[in-house]
Amino acid sequence: MPNVFFYADIHRCVGCHACEVACQQEHGGDARKRIKVEESEALDSRGRVRVNFIPLILEDCFIESYAKDGEDSPACMAVCPTRALQFNDLGGFSRVLSDNKNVSLLRVIR
Ligand code: SF4
Repeated sequence: MPNVFFYADIHRCVGCHACEVACQQEHGGDARKRIKVEESEALDSRGRVRVNFIPLILEDCFIESYAKDGEDSPACMAVCPTRALQFNDLGGFSRVLSDNKNVSLLRVIR
């Protein structure tokens, strides 16, 4: 099976935290051990503060099972209103990277 890349488009993420809530509802327990949306502030070219939201996949996440078994999208991906969370193969992921520098690789799934 070719590698599958799970990534977040930082430009699309609006920090709604729906992915965290969906993970909690789907799997119970402490969702913050599986997915967490962090915030970081930076100044733009005009000196204005800009907030970026960065989804992070943590060690307890078992997203590999979704990608390998061809199951439905994981809860976090299914509820994301902006489609910030995505799977792609190497070719597709390379194209995304070449077009968009605001991408965070969350996990490589073999
Ligand atoms: S990844 Fe999607 S669901 Fe999660 S905080 Fe960002 S926009 Fe909301």
